[in-house]
Amino acid sequence: MEKEIKQRAKEDNVKFICLQFTDITGAVKSVDIPTGRLQVAIEDGIWFDGSSVEGFARIQESDMRLIPDLETYALLPWSRPERRRARVFCDIYLPDGTPFPGDPRGVLKRAVEQLANRHWSYNIGPEPEFFLLRKNDSDTIHPVPHDVGGYFDFSASDEAQRVRTELMLALAGMGLEIEMGHHEVSRGQHEIDFRYTDALRAADNVVTLKYTIKALAAQQGLIATFMPKPIYGINGSGMHTHQSIFDREGRNIFFDPEDEYYLSPIAYGFIAGQMAHARALAAVVAPTVNSYKRIVPGHEAPIYVCWAQSNRSAMIRIPSHSPGREASTRAELRFPDPSCNPYLAFAVMLSAGLDGIEQEIPCPPPVNDLNIYEMSKSELAEHGITQLPGSLGEALDELDRDPILKQTLGPYIYEAFVRAKRSEWDEYCTRVMDWEVAYYLETA
Ligand code: GLU
Ligand code: MG
Repeated sequence: MEKEIKQRAKEDNVKFICLQFTDITGAVKSVDIPTGRLQVAIEDGIWFDGSSVEGFARIQESDMRLIPDLETYALLPWSRPERRRARVFCDIYLPDGTPFPGDPRGVLKRAVEQLANRHWSYNIGPEPEFFLLRKNDSDTIHPVPHDVGGYFDFSASDEAQRVRTELMLALAGMGLEIEMGHHEVSRGQHEIDFRYTDALRAADNVVTLKYTIKALAAQQGLIATFMPKPIYGINGSGMHTHQSIFDREGRNIFFDPEDEYYLSPIAYGFIAGQMAHARALAAVVAPTVNSYKRIVPGHEAPIYVCWAQSNRSAMIRIPSHSPGREASTRAELRFPDPSCNPYLAFAVMLSAGLDGIEQEIPCPPPVNDLNIYEMSKSELAEHGITQLPGSLGEALDELDRDPILKQTLGPYIYEAFVRAKRSEWDEYCTRVMDWEVAYYLETA
């Protein structure tokens, strides 16, 4: 691997290597080294001062070491040929050689390791949605969709099509196995999906996809945003996440040919676990104030904690497929959005599902034929259907009551995460918004 990567960097004429990792919010950090230092980075890692990174601030532990994961080598397609840069994702270690507990990628690695003794692998196929917006002349950015297309439209805007094609080509060049790109429901909204892969690689891919789309859009004078609800009154952007577990022979253990929904007892346990932990999961998979403006009725985002085969308003959907198609049996979790840190999100999603399997939590029946939106509170309660949290504050309260998810994040990340998110929420709660001024100024 080492030799191969050094050779590739030479052939690619790479001048700098960006050693990348994320902070707890998912923001990408980069320490750049000249390609000549790659050997040192591989042998000893690269030391850096982590004290000013969000969630890393603990002065006595500010020296940290980045160890590159060479398999993640990829050229950054927007870097100029004469200053070509490549990136590798890194794992973070402390001076004593132990993994840094505040490294989100490490959290996911440890969560996945729980499966190692069973020789299971957790597969993830995410569907990140985003808007391409035009910059206004003014200093402030207003969300102006840059096209007039609609869901799956082909000809509405050649311009949008051209940009999306360019994004897909660039992402494929970075090693993502692109399956599909299409216009989404809202004006200016798009989706690019890549093939399912193991959770760690899938999280790396989400990070790659987001920053690549942003960088290439910026080159076109556009803004790409993964904000969950940038525009009032139209669909927001989700990141539906298709999940399955394969055993060591590569068999999908969610599949049971005898079952009505082709689901195995393990799949039912997994679904039940994610439902049982759903309200706490929300804080990590939908972690911004704005996330809760997407999770409202009428915009294809789920609100209720339930599962169904076809109902797109359910929190977990079992996509229908031709009978016997083992590999495509999967549970689609529909409430994550692309503002999450995918490492933390996939880690807690896995531990919630595993808890359901281990505790044999019974799975409630699906809500295929029920119109949950027309049910009264008491009817919902009768069917045991609860609602996802209505705000980030509520979701954080739920996370605080969930020892399993807290354990998965580890005390270090949990505390840093809650500190950052509480302050986000508190700041929002005390701000006076335009809506309030318009609504109350003259009427109060
Ligand atoms: N944009 C919708 C959401 O916020 C989903 C649309 C779809 O089903 O792909 O989840
Ligand atoms: Mg979609």
